Amino acid sequence: MVMSKANPSSKQLACRKCKFVFSGEEKKCPVCGSTDLSDEWAGLVIILDTRSKLAEVIGAKKEGRYAIRVR
Ligand SMILES: [Zn+2]
Repeated sequence: MVMSKANPSSKQLACRKCKFVFSGEEKKCPVCGSTDLSDEWAGLVIILDTRSKLAEVIGAKKEGRYAIRVR
């Protein structure tokens, strides 16, 4: 069994364009490709189905986690 080490540099970033939340190693949004990212965001919505009403409201095009507010 391998224990995964907690990496303090792997902070979660949110895309200012589509609000997708991801670990900030890429420095680029994996959904829309934007580099306009923020580590100051609040609220988290998990989209499991992009055909759901919630995904439509948020504008989610990919399953994943989305921030409610991005500063
Ligand atoms: Zn994006």
